[in-house]
Amino acid sequence: MVKRSKLEEKLAMKNESGWVTMKKKEKNIFSFCKGYMDFLCNAKTERGAVSEILKIAEKNNFKNIKNMKNLKPGMRVYAVNREKNIALAVVGKKPVENGLNIVVSHIDSPRLDLKPNPLYEDKDAGVALFKTHYYGGIKKYHWVNVPLALHGKIIKRNGEPVDIKIGENSDEPVFIIPDLLPHLSKNLQDKRKLPEGVKGEELNILVGSMPVKDKDVKEKIKIAVLEKLNKKYGITEEDFVSAELEAVPAGIPRDIGFDKSMIGAYGQDDRICAYTSLAAINETETPEKTGAALFVEKEEIGSEGNTGMKSMFFEEFVSEIVRLTKLSNMEFSRKTLTEKTSVAEFTTDYSEIKVKNALSNSKALSADVNSAFDPTFKEVFESRNASKLGFGVVLTKYTGARGKAGASDASAEYVGKIRKLFNDKKIAWQTGELGKVDEGGGGTVAKYLAEYNMDVLDCGPPILAMHAPCEVSSKADVYSAYEAYKAFFGSEV
Ligand code: MN
Ligand code: MN
Repeated sequence: MVKRSKLEEKLAMKNESGWVTMKKKEKNIFSFCKGYMDFLCNAKTERGAVSEILKIAEKNNFKNIKNMKNLKPGMRVYAVNREKNIALAVVGKKPVENGLNIVVSHIDSPRLDLKPNPLYEDKDAGVALFKTHYYGGIKKYHWVNVPLALHGKIIKRNGEPVDIKIGENSDEPVFIIPDLLPHLSKNLQDKRKLPEGVKGEELNILVGSMPVKDKDVKEKIKIAVLEKLNKKYGITEEDFVSAELEAVPAGIPRDIGFDKSMIGAYGQDDRICAYTSLAAINETETPEKTGAALFVEKEEIGSEGNTGMKSMFFEEFVSEIVRLTKLSNMEFSRKTLTEKTSVAEFTTDYSEIKVKNALSNSKALSADVNSAFDPTFKEVFESRNASKLGFGVVLTKYTGARGKAGASDASAEYVGKIRKLFNDKKIAWQTGELGKVDEGGGGTVAKYLAEYNMDVLDCGPPILAMHAPCEVSSKADVYSAYEAYKAFFGSEV
């Protein structure tokens, strides 16, 4: 490392690797990341992530808010929305209407969903396949020749649910989309532009090739697959209509590099922020301001739907916290109340304006990843304003495309507060923009949080090969994100 002059030290922005500034924490970094990699194994879909988050939260004393009679400082609660969206909170000492400290991450990742009528037989090829409908922003050619596992849920004709998870254990089969061999791709495929190299309707997954012996059956291979599925899961073809089945890369996260300093895994955007904010809120005890970690899905398709950031779920959760903390505030008067007093009378101190105040006085970190500076495709980045792998959690003042279209540009005041907090706590952080101004762009949940009139800043680790079946993160950045969210929950920014 080049030593900086006194003048540089005084005036210029620091630009040091997190591995240098966090040298003393190296052991903690590696052990923390083991937990993160374990989490990723079971959190490959939003349902998987919710069930893992819930398991960890319950171990850390979070209770279902539905079962609470009142809430007092230090109490820990959660709410689950449709198995795909979850919120946790630790009640603070100050009234909730003074605002919460909120960290929001998303637990959906780009993948291949099965179509509602997915199964077909190709008689010419003698195989059965599933039709897929890709979800989120993918480069389609990434998904061919990659071993795939199937995760999800099927609701049968009689209403009974069946959970599906196949392809993760070594004794289970995986599935694959076979690409065209190079020997024959010269005319058909090689002349296409890269995004069309493999087209959406060409993402067909191989699922079987053995026919049934029954000579009266027309589609022998398709029926053979259905027979297997019926035996194993009790399902019929129509059941696919009421199902959510996701094909995701099979296998476990791996260390990357001789130094094992990086992690290669599917779905790190944005479960890297989900895990680190979960770890941070788990370690938060009786903060000044109520802390909340929210895990949403559908971010990759615009935060739509009742389990995405645009859903009223989080607002309801905050309303419930306001209501239940008001009950506890009024508990002193319980003795003076008669048996006939209804719960409604306990809630007289609750009002809609208190919920609105709670939201607008809140501070939020939109915990999502940024793109790490790519060593091979440097031209799309503006290096002074690109985040680098291993240089710490990224403060992204704004996202968006071109002239900041679609961005929630955080104010200088709010960025100033977060920057000061991170500097005071000696957290490795850097700044970043997603590529050159006119190169492309992207967005996060930040703008939907900002609709509540709260301060929001994008803050998460940088990722290489974002949205690829195997995304790359730096263990130093995973740890600095965890430290950043923990400092935020413990602060009064
Ligand atoms: Mn993301
Ligand atoms: Mn994404």
